[in-house]
Amino acid sequence: NEQRTRRPDWLRVKLPIGENFKKVRGLVDEYKLHTICQSGNCPNMGECWGEGTATFMILGNVCTRSCTFCAVATGRPNEYDTDEPRRVAEAILLMQVKHAVITSVNRDELKDKGAEIWYQTVKAVKESSPKTTIETLIPDTKSNWEALYRMISAGQEVVSHNMETVERLYRNVRPQAKYARSLEQIRRTKEYGQRTKSGIMLGLGETQDEVFKAIDDLAENGLDILTLGQYLQPTKMHHEVIDFIHPDTFAMYREEGLKRGLKYVESGPLVRSSYHAERHVHV
Ligand code: SF4
Ligand code: SF4
Repeated sequence: NEQRTRRPDWLRVKLPIGENFKKVRGLVDEYKLHTICQSGNCPNMGECWGEGTATFMILGNVCTRSCTFCAVATGRPNEYDTDEPRRVAEAILLMQVKHAVITSVNRDELKDKGAEIWYQTVKAVKESSPKTTIETLIPDTKSNWEALYRMISAGQEVVSHNMETVERLYRNVRPQAKYARSLEQIRRTKEYGQRTKSGIMLGLGETQDEVFKAIDDLAENGLDILTLGQYLQPTKMHHEVIDFIHPDTFAMYREEGLKRGLKYVESGPLVRSSYHAERHVHV
């Protein structure tokens, strides 16, 4: 139904062009890096890449999981590139990134869930760009807490782990994840002494009460920063968009989130977990 799937005006954005954009794309290609901006076909690429911000995806571009909203390929990953930390650090240095966001696919087949590459990458960036702040958007470690603590102990300023949706929709949206396990990971990250951040996509069929419940659960488990954005379908094969949430509703969730104990809430149709991420360092 055309009305349901046609994007409302507030989701139309400018095309990515300009010198900085080309420079970022050149470096990403030259250093054989992967970005979530490209694989997720993010609508903010013009703005972010124009400002020299990109979200690097490490540990390859094939994921062991099959979340139904995500455009990253699912399969058996074969990339384990111990040189990747160096290349990420060099690209970040050349791009003069002030705030770097790094994420990864899930590597459930690895004993350490990729924690060592994570640790080395953050260390390498901090060594070559000591003034650059870093947000690590990490996968769930399947209750391997040793792997979690390795991932989050390399000196990064923000540790995010996205809940992505409300509890009821997990089976459908994040079939290999568990709501309670992700919450526990956030709680442990906070107890470890890190600044915690998470993201939820709206428009997947969740009710307002379910969103409030997720906010309460997150506040109770020590979450500092929450991002709420509109889910957009990367291809026809992915989870369909059930609703386009109105900007006023996003604003209401922001107020609710703050009332319910979160320190900072970024909420709007175009908000992505890495959008305006540089603002979250000082929360
Ligand atoms: Fe990339 Fe995040 Fe910006 Fe989108 S919002 S272009 S994923 S950095
Ligand atoms: Fe995509 Fe992450 Fe899910 Fe893998 S775990 S399918 S990269 S959202």
